[in-house]
Amino acid sequence: MTVNRAMAVDTFGRRIDYLRISVTDRCNLRCVYCMPSDGVPWKDRSELLTFEEIERLTVAAVAEGISKIRLTGGEPLVRKGIVDLVRRLGAIDGVEAIAMTTNGTLLPRMAGDLASAGLARVNISLDSLDPGDYSRATRGGRVEDALAGIDAALAAGMRPVKVNVVVERSLNQDLLSFAKLTMDRPLHVRFIEYMPVGGGDDCGMAGDVAGDVAGESAGDWTRAGHVSSDEMLARLAVEGAAAGLGRLELADRSETPGGWGPARYYRFRGAQATIGVISPLSHRFCGECNRLRLTADGKLRTCLFSDDELDARRILRHGTAADLRALILAAVAAKPESHNMRIGTVRRMSQVGG
Ligand code: SAM
Ligand code: SF4
Repeated sequence: MTVNRAMAVDTFGRRIDYLRISVTDRCNLRCVYCMPSDGVPWKDRSELLTFEEIERLTVAAVAEGISKIRLTGGEPLVRKGIVDLVRRLGAIDGVEAIAMTTNGTLLPRMAGDLASAGLARVNISLDSLDPGDYSRATRGGRVEDALAGIDAALAAGMRPVKVNVVVERSLNQDLLSFAKLTMDRPLHVRFIEYMPVGGGDDCGMAGDVAGDVAGESAGDWTRAGHVSSDEMLARLAVEGAAAGLGRLELADRSETPGGWGPARYYRFRGAQATIGVISPLSHRFCGECNRLRLTADGKLRTCLFSDDELDARRILRHGTAADLRALILAAVAAKPESHNMRIGTVRRMSQVGG
């Protein structure tokens, strides 16, 4: 049966077709830029949306024009039954593809089942290839597990497989070692500017990252830790040439992994995959924003950098189908034109889903 779907267009003419669903606020790691060392208080299970509720919201969102779904967290693979959720969401008429953002450490034992259930695309977060640095960045993670997760995703036939590297100055990352991963395997690497999300209670201030600033930090985020994508590309170009990789060139559109987000893609000649940069702060991309976010406790968020939320859980538990449709349309209508370089949000990244 073919479903008649609307096309969701927001107040600023942007087509909204992408929903990021956080399935848990829990995680098996404690990345320094995402969570405090003692973690965050977990939500009670009764506060989390059930799979039936997530499915019902997804069906309603698809009817309003959403076609791309990404599962995230916390760590999505620690949510019990996640394979079943992938299967259920993938079976919804109108869902074009299911993707996941994960730290990859549980993929070695789960990638096969996830791929069979319909998980096609995966982004794996990995901030260092050095065992000691990875362990420090994740507060105890083992880089071997994440690397085995990448191997497992490729072996299971997921495409594209992308490695997400958040670049933060004090982590002192060797960007070239990541770029080399693109040479021999279909493994795209994306460098992401460290974002001032979380810590809003501490700072509660707004500032312009590029210019004069009202605030220098948001919780654990500091301006000094921010590395712009221009600096990353300049470093890669110089170090790549010195290492004999040739020129770093803009990738042809046909070679890019066809992301749903705002990465700009480059490549070294002869490489099997691309190098992307994501620069929410230094090159604001709000004009292309195509997404809504659903938190694990059932709040619809209109912008990563805003604490404005609509209570989908209340409607899912106590409202009608018409109420749910109205809520989704209200979320689309409430999307702000841009994030205005706001520094700090009440929720941390692990509580939103990135
Ligand atoms: N646990 C999964 C993972 O790490 O991929 C999914 C959730 S995590 C919150 C989603 C993405 O947000 C990851 O790629 C992570 O590196 C990124 N992230 C977390 N905190 C960030 C920050 N302050 N700035 C930029 N990216 C961040
Ligand atoms: Fe966990 Fe992902 Fe946050 Fe790291 S970035 S602490 S893996 S949720």
